[in-house]
Amino acid sequence: MNGEREISQQSAGGTVGAIRVTVRGTVQGIGYRPALARLATRLGLAGWVANSGRGLELHVEGPPDRLAAFEQRCRSTCPPEGHVDAIQSAPAVVQLESGFQIRDRSDVAEVDTPVPTDRVTCPICRDEIADPQNRRHGYWLTTCSSCGPRYTILTGMPYERYATTLHGFPLCDPCRAEYENPEDRRFHAQTIGCPNCGPQVVDLPRGLAALRAGEVVALKGVGGYQLLARADHTAAIDRLRQVKHRPWKPLAIMVADVAQARRFASVDGTAERHLISAAGPIVILPRAPDMTAKLVACSERIGPGLNSLGILFPTSALHQRVVEEVGPVIVSSANLEGDPIAFRAEIADPPWPDAAVPTIVHNRPIQRPLDDSVVRAMGPHLAVIRLARGLAPLPLPLAAPPQGEHVLAVGGQQKVAIALVNGRQAILGPHIGDLASLAARRRFVEHVHDLLDLYGCHPTVVAHDAHPDYFTTRWAQDFAAQRGAAVVSVQHHLAHAASSVLQPGWWNTPVLAVTWDGSGWGSDGMIWGGEAWSYSLGAATRCCRLRPLRLPGGEAAIHEPWRIVAGLVAEIRANDPGFTALGFPTGALDPVFRQPLLCPVTTSIGRLFDAAAVLILGPDRLPGRRVGYEGHFAALLESACDPQAEGQYPLPLVPHRGIAHLEWEWDWEPLIRQIVQDQQAGLPRGTMAMRFHRGLAMALVALVQRQPATRVTLSGGVFQNQMLVQLIAQALVTTRYEMAWPGLIPVNDGGLAAGQTVVALATFRRG
Ligand SMILES: [Zn+2]
Ligand SMILES: [Zn+2]
Repeated sequence: MNGEREISQQSAGGTVGAIRVTVRGTVQGIGYRPALARLATRLGLAGWVANSGRGLELHVEGPPDRLAAFEQRCRSTCPPEGHVDAIQSAPAVVQLESGFQIRDRSDVAEVDTPVPTDRVTCPICRDEIADPQNRRHGYWLTTCSSCGPRYTILTGMPYERYATTLHGFPLCDPCRAEYENPEDRRFHAQTIGCPNCGPQVVDLPRGLAALRAGEVVALKGVGGYQLLARADHTAAIDRLRQVKHRPWKPLAIMVADVAQARRFASVDGTAERHLISAAGPIVILPRAPDMTAKLVACSERIGPGLNSLGILFPTSALHQRVVEEVGPVIVSSANLEGDPIAFRAEIADPPWPDAAVPTIVHNRPIQRPLDDSVVRAMGPHLAVIRLARGLAPLPLPLAAPPQGEHVLAVGGQQKVAIALVNGRQAILGPHIGDLASLAARRRFVEHVHDLLDLYGCHPTVVAHDAHPDYFTTRWAQDFAAQRGAAVVSVQHHLAHAASSVLQPGWWNTPVLAVTWDGSGWGSDGMIWGGEAWSYSLGAATRCCRLRPLRLPGGEAAIHEPWRIVAGLVAEIRANDPGFTALGFPTGALDPVFRQPLLCPVTTSIGRLFDAAAVLILGPDRLPGRRVGYEGHFAALLESACDPQAEGQYPLPLVPHRGIAHLEWEWDWEPLIRQIVQDQQAGLPRGTMAMRFHRGLAMALVALVQRQPATRVTLSGGVFQNQMLVQLIAQALVTTRYEMAWPGLIPVNDGGLAAGQTVVALATFRRG
């Protein structure tokens, strides 16, 4: 049915055109929509105008000359109370509207079907592209019913061609014949197209030549612009890091096939399955043991100090072409570190300082941005580190299907992703990123409105983190106030715990939820991050924590973990003046310790990891003694582990009586003393790193065995650590305790919103 409607620009009364107009600025709530409706009616045009997350959206149909007249007067129709920043207009599909309506946002229906996710080019399409006899030979944007972009090109639901950015590409006769033929593999393939009628790639040969020559090249991918550079070319990798302002954080390598992947990484059967999956995520794999000297040098630049590398297979046929022609390439989002991925026309005004980067583009518009997903094997399971292309939006397995509730949960401050419930379904949205920069905050706001629109969600409950200063907290409170929605403030680790029971489906049974991460606002105002909870039905009681440790200089200690070590040493020396640690002069930070405001305390296991990394690895392994990215030092310490090494550091459980419900505390002092002793005795780093991981795992297991609950969940960023999770699983395997492995919902802050949703629903349903 849509086959005819979407391409027909003819009607009985002569030529009719349609345009989609977006008006940005201060344009809502000022009577602009009625004014535009009057203008359209006067001109005899049909269509609608609606508020959107970006301002106003209009669909206008009628004779081309009158459409032009409408466009011309659009801006001057704005009432004086408002202000128009920009008007964009694009050809649209005639929908044979009658009359001109003002659409209310609440008209948007609750979407009850899952929004489809983007899928990498399928093997059959790849064969067609490679076949000189096929009419799609060499057409790098080939897609079919089972592959191609989805979420990134949707302008609305349901998923139909007129509701994608491909509506501007009317089908040629052969494509239309395929689309309408029930026997064809492209029957009703909404993204159908060919070299004659579909979007086109430009500047490919020039871009490929530049890449081969070792230059950094930008490429318009599926969910945004990417920066590419040869992965076997040290200068090219250095240049890419320089362009992106990203000195340390690991990069990912795109390879053509398993053979190319094996040049860099160990690929077993499970890893191969994840690599070739339709989602096509970046899979974190162990570095290949037998790499050439040249590739060792490259790998050290791609993942400095790490024993793992992120590998992905081609995302689209265009990417396939690039890696077949050039070999393995680094693929990274095209933006400065900390900014969101560029996806619109930003490429005309590139977000990086050096505009000389050659660009391979295509003219298929990207409706919404999306990064690559990142996953990691955890034993036999798959743990998602970054939920994005191919995996998001992710349906949330709630205990009961939504009963008409509309909820928005906004996540935290880092690795932000939102979750929503639209009365019919609950989903966790894709990774947006850290909200430190203004650009990232703008992207967050735009993203929330977009996803609410896409799902027809009108939140009556808004859930946010308990941290008063997070951008998402302040935004959520403001948004809820404007809409008269209820607000639920959810403690950071309660949200982690609540998210951890979804996947195993342990909704109604008590579990021991262990939440270890970098930092979260605790209910007592302290920074938490080393807790365990008796959790059930959206509520939790804290039963254990890490003995608090000091952060000399506050935030500075997170960037410079040697300060944490100085704090630990000083605290031990308070009772044992003879205690010293090599390389940590006593007394240097004494003035800081005397001022509590300069020296907050935390129970964070993430900070204990940082301190252990400083002591075990020593300054020469720690670039600039500063943390380069979140979890940096913990990742270095995990990479340093020697799995053959025996022994473990003591992290004893001691009874705690001071705070209500809190029964136990993990005491870090014996652990730090032992590390210092081993370090002074010159033990190999790999042994010490291994003993640290094993010590933490055993401390966790010791707590588990003192609890009535027989089910254990792990959440918080610390459990992205494969070594730690495996040690815990091994220790529990012979016991009566059952452990939930990290899974599709990220254990890091990317999964917070899922847990906030659960707590909000529990609060709402109880009240
Ligand atoms: Zn296909
Ligand atoms: Zn065609």
